[in-house]
This record gives sequence, C-alpha cells and structure tokens, in this order.
Amino acid sequence: MANLSKEKVRMPEQPPLLRARNFEEVALGYTPSQAMEEAERCLQCRHKPCVNGCPVEVPIPGFIQAIAAGDFEAAYRTITTENSLPAICGRVCPQESQCEGVCVRGKKGEPVAIGRLERFAADYALQSGLAGAEKPLTNGRKIAVVGGGPAGLSCAGDLAKLGYEVTIFEALHAAGGVLTYGIPEFRLPKSLVEEEIAKITELGVTIHKNVVVGRSITVDELFEEGFEAVFVGSGAGLPRFMGIEGENLNGVYSANEFLTRVNLMRAYEYPRNPTPVKTGKRVAVVGGGNVAMDAARTALRLGAEEVSIVYRRGMEELPARAEEIHHAQEEGIHFRLLNNPKRILGDGVWVTGMECVEMELGEPDASGRRSPREKAGSEFVLELDTVIIAIGQSPNPLIRQTTPGLSVQRWGGIVVEESTMETSKAGVYAGGDAVTGAATVILAMGAGKKAAKAIHESLSGASVEAE
Ligand code: FAD
Ligand code: SF4
Ligand code: SF4
Repeated sequence: MANLSKEKVRMPEQPPLLRARNFEEVALGYTPSQAMEEAERCLQCRHKPCVNGCPVEVPIPGFIQAIAAGDFEAAYRTITTENSLPAICGRVCPQESQCEGVCVRGKKGEPVAIGRLERFAADYALQSGLAGAEKPLTNGRKIAVVGGGPAGLSCAGDLAKLGYEVTIFEALHAAGGVLTYGIPEFRLPKSLVEEEIAKITELGVTIHKNVVVGRSITVDELFEEGFEAVFVGSGAGLPRFMGIEGENLNGVYSANEFLTRVNLMRAYEYPRNPTPVKTGKRVAVVGGGNVAMDAARTALRLGAEEVSIVYRRGMEELPARAEEIHHAQEEGIHFRLLNNPKRILGDGVWVTGMECVEMELGEPDASGRRSPREKAGSEFVLELDTVIIAIGQSPNPLIRQTTPGLSVQRWGGIVVEESTMETSKAGVYAGGDAVTGAATVILAMGAGKKAAKAIHESLSGASVEAE
C-alpha cells in the first residue's frame, strides 16, 4: 500500500558527538524494511520529472518499484543501466538540486529519498557479491583516458561495455580522483570506492597508475601508440589562494593538500595510528562549499578543539550540500558567516591567528547573488593554530601546455562542443571538472558518458541507441 507520509523514512546515523571524533561513516544506510517503506512513497509518476533531474537519467521510478517489491537485485540492475558508480552517487550527489529537487512528493512534504534508495540498492549488490555487467568481446580498438576520476571512470566503463580496449592513465598511485583523495572516509568509505572501481576494471578497463600525461607521455604520443581517441578527465586540482599577507606561513594549508594528505597517508586511521597531519587546537576553514565542510569536519576528527567555517556571505548562500551543512552544525562546527579574512598573522614561521572583517550583503550581482561588502571598522582577530583555504580549484595547466591545438578558456577550462564533448583537437574529447571547473561527481560522470557515446559514434559510424 502507498506510504502517504510527508517525511522521508529516517536513515540511522552515528550520534553527532560520537562521530565527530571518529572517521567511520556518518550515515548508516537503510535496512531492507526501511528501504521498502520509503520506496512505497513513490507515486510512479507517468512523466517521471525525477529522471530529467538526474544528469545521467537513472530510471528512478523503475528501480524504486523494484525495491518496493523486494527485488533488490532488479533495482541494482536497473540503476546500473545508466550509472556505473551508484554506491558513490547515492552518498554524495546533491540530490536536493537534482533528482529529489523535482520529485512530485516534494511539493507537499519531503521528496522521495531517491539518493538513499540508490545507495541501498548499490550496497545490497556489493554486500551480496552480485556480479557487475559481463565483460564484452573486444573489438580491438584502443581508447586512452587521462585521469581516473568519475569522468574518466564513467567514460571508460561505457566504452568497455561497447567492446573497446580502454586504458586509463592516472597521475597518482590510486584511481578514483576526488572520490579517493578528496571526499573524506566518514562520507565515502575508500573500500567502497575501490569496490566500485573494481566493477569497471572487471569490464576489461586497464588502469596505469603513476603516469602523468604531459610528463610521462603526451596526448600526441598516445595517438602514436595506436590509441584512436583520447578522453581528458584530468579534473580541477589546482587550489586557489586569497593572495593575502601570511598565506605562506607554516600551518596554512589548501583544503586540497590537507584532505589529500589525510586520505592518501591514511591519517583517517587516527587515533589507531599516529597521524602525519597535525591541526593544533584552533582551526579556521575559509570557504563555504563541500570542500570547506569536509576540511572542517576532518580537522575536528583529527583532534582539533575549536573549528570554524569563515564565509563571506550568509547561510542561504552557502554552496555546500544541505546535508553536509546540517551534519557540520550538529557536530559543533562554528559558522562565522559574513566574515572575511584580511590577513593571516604569525610569529614569522607559524600561524598564530587571522584578522577578519565583518561583511554585509549588497544588491544582487550579475549572477543573482548578493555581493558582500566590508563593514567599516569591524575588524577583529581570531587566534588560530591552523588555517585551511577552501575557496575553489582550477584545472592544472599541464595538459593544455603539452597538447598543441587544444583550446582552453582564459581560466583554464578545456573548450568542448557540448553535445559531444569533442575538443578543438581532432580525436580528443574532455569532460568533468577539467571542462567546467569544480562541479559535481554526477555532472562529471554525465560528461564521461556523453563523450563515450560520441567517441563510439565517431569511430564506428553507429548510434549507441541503435545497437
Ligand atoms: P577528478 O575527480 O578531479 O579526477 C581527475 C583525475 O585525473 C585525478 O585522479 C587526477 O589525479 C588525474 N589527473 C590529473 N591530471 C592528470 C594528468 N596530467 N595525467 C594523468 N592523470 C591526471 N561533488 C559531489 O557531487 N558531491 C560532493 O559531496 C562533493 N564533495 C567534494 C568534496 C571535496 C573535498 C572535493 C575536492 C570535491 C567534491 N565534489 C563533490 C566535487 C567532485 O568530487 C568533482 O566535481 C568530481 O570528482 C570531478 O570529477 P573529475 O573526474 O572531473 O575529476
Ligand atoms: Fe539522483 Fe545522483 Fe542517483 Fe541521479 S545519480 S538519481 S542525481 S542520486
Ligand atoms: Fe517517484 Fe518522485 Fe519520481 Fe514521481 S517524481 S516517480 S514520486 S521519485
């Protein structure tokens, strides 16, 4: 019988004060009966607005109907027709502005918990050892993918399913991109990312790690080695800084460096293992996006006593996922909103504090956001041991510097034809953060899928739907 409750079935979570001191996953996932109860809230709308809200068009009503019927394997198989990393997307997609943002149930109450149900079906498949898609017969045609993040993985997975021999070249010693070295363990367990990547390599995709394209081999050399097309999914890993006094002091990190150290040096095993990443007692994180929330919550788990988010706009303008903001607040992160750093203070070597100024919001700017301006005479000093800067990232210039004929925007994003993700250089496609700047996992995956389809159509002359 339909579930008419206006609220989502609650998902169990670790209590805030307990989880603020460990790196285990915050949200614990639905049990089968909770998932079936939530699935009954779906109205099976004929026009499926939720599907249009998902950048990769997961067949949402279909998989939810299968969960309601207790057929969890069918639910998983339905999701994976369009999404090759469902356990990840169910956890980190900003559902409120995508699939759930347009769910009809959201008009009078909470939308159906599409993300939680997707996570449930994917976790069921991983826990019960369901095999992924079958490895197809190879067509002998070689494609290279630069970068093993969500854009590269989804492009590689889709091409492998069509029979191509795909090789991913990844700069670091682990694939996954930001999923592996950015998003923290307590939001996205690394073992789960490894299992999802294994499903892609089981399709026949090869991953060459520790290969920096542009240094170890160039894009042109990949063509000389017989690759017929190259997809660039190299992300946006170059951190931005504020350009203020004191940014070179010890104790000032970019959020990228801080989170990468924690993830790749397994500092998340703290306090079981001594951590090489020290935060001191008082930490300020500058910025208001997902990266800032992750850095702040990670600092708390590494033993910091007082952690603040310093953001120059207000609560409504915070760009992070609603759930992350809520979790950060519950865990005791202090939000210093309408505050902006002016300079970082130190003793000549280490950080000792940060001078900030209060802000007020003026008229909306061209983007529709109200622009902040300083309140005269409102400067104050925060005493600090660590400052983490999370104000955005840009694409690394290496690929564009070593690939003649590749057009880029002034800020470094690779220029593509939107319908195919083809770049200005023949045979080279690009997608994900390398094209858009820092965005989301699912948009990167959507771009990878689109490029895979276009590469196949260009190389075979066939349309993907027609097969
Ligand atoms: P990436 O994930 O950056 O992967 C690019 C890969 O290319 C990397 O592995 C890199 O090592 C490799 N590479 C780079 N240059 C080269 C080269 N020259 N040769 C070989 N390999 C190379 N999005 C969400 O949807 N939800 C969230 O909750 C969320 N939280 C986030 C938290 C953090 C801390 C960060 C940093 C980002 C977050 N994002 C989130 C954004 C999301 O992770 C990115 O938009 C997404 O990972 C982009 O995917 P990508 O494949 O384009 O790039
Ligand atoms: Fe929603 Fe993301 Fe799943 Fe699409 S992939 S249905 S946007 S949670
Ligand atoms: Fe179900 Fe919401 Fe999609 Fe309608 S819009 S089919 S209620 S998930």
